[in-house]
Amino acid sequence: MKITVSVIKADVGGIGGHTRPSDALIDAVKETVKNSGDLLIDHYIGYCGDDVHIVMSHTKGVDNKDIHKLAWDAFEAGTAVAKKEGLYGAGQDLLKDSFSGNVKGMGPGVAELEFEERPNEAFTVFAADKTEPGCFNYPMYRLFVDALSNTGLIVNKSLAEGVRFTIMDVEDGTIADLELWQDKPTLEAALMYPGRYVIAEIHTKEGEPILSASTDRLHNIAGIYVGKDDPVCLIRTQKLFPATEEAGSVFNNPHYVAGNTRGSHNMPLMPVKLNSAATINFCIPIVQSLVFSMHEGKFTGPFDGFSTPDWDYIREQATKKALAIRSQGFIHPATLVPDELEYAEGYKARMSKLKEKMKPMDSKTVTNDRKENYEDPD
Ligand code: 13P
Ligand code: MG
Ligand code: MG
Repeated sequence: MKITVSVIKADVGGIGGHTRPSDALIDAVKETVKNSGDLLIDHYIGYCGDDVHIVMSHTKGVDNKDIHKLAWDAFEAGTAVAKKEGLYGAGQDLLKDSFSGNVKGMGPGVAELEFEERPNEAFTVFAADKTEPGCFNYPMYRLFVDALSNTGLIVNKSLAEGVRFTIMDVEDGTIADLELWQDKPTLEAALMYPGRYVIAEIHTKEGEPILSASTDRLHNIAGIYVGKDDPVCLIRTQKLFPATEEAGSVFNNPHYVAGNTRGSHNMPLMPVKLNSAATINFCIPIVQSLVFSMHEGKFTGPFDGFSTPDWDYIREQATKKALAIRSQGFIHPATLVPDELEYAEGYKARMSKLKEKMKPMDSKTVTNDRKENYEDPD
């Protein structure tokens, strides 16, 4: 039986800032999805920080208008509540006034896979807040390329063959297929800069879908900053694919990602429990894991993948790394490079003041001095 799993997410408002949606907002989203007749086989709704995710199973395929419209309507219902309650950033990710066939490019993030369901289908949704789609570059590299992180790459026949990554250039809006193992260094060169090159999809060499991630960068859609493009990633696990615990464990080294407060800093990605709010400790970036079983499109779960005691230790490490980089305040690389600063208007104003005060140097002295002392290293 061919089933599609669609994960669609949006931030439509937070309590007192970019923290978490209100219960009434979540109820409005739930109510809309519940009243969708027989469009869906099953669904689950939760939140990661201030982002609401709707996980849906159905038989309509990817990019289906009715499924996308349902998610859009649900987020609009959430927005109406957010406005009524005066929540911060009400309707933040709904960038267009009306729905036009597909939520892609309209603000919400989408990760979808259509596949022939296995007798015991297993998949995990990783949902993140206060970061960007490139936050998955490092963990997914560990999972599919680095045997020191994942022994499955040696002992699982399918993974050992290597997989096919589809990488998106989020600035140009172009995509490239890179296949292991021959394209390994090219893939590494792309994954090196998560602000520009992000993983959109992963397939087996035979074309079986394994992973889909949301890739929209909101500031490219809106032209101006309207909020970080907090991503979701849907990954099938077990059998031909990574084991669930292999997929989870690649989040056990909280690496630095762009995002958090004002979307303008580098901080570690902290694995947290389901339906956690964003911390008001400078908004450490967070990621949740929703572990599902599925049979004939019906969900069992989610099991909270980052709820076991070992993850408390990882959270402690993330907190220590967060405090360490915050200890150097606004000095880069604690802050992002100017092009990546999300609230750039204030920064530009400061820079133009600086420019006004800049005077030419005494060029003669400097040039002579440099010429005399300069030796080409080669
Ligand atoms: P969100 O992208 O989660 O809305 O956060 C924006 C922000 O600026 C937090 O400081
Ligand atoms: Mg927000
Ligand atoms: Mg968010």
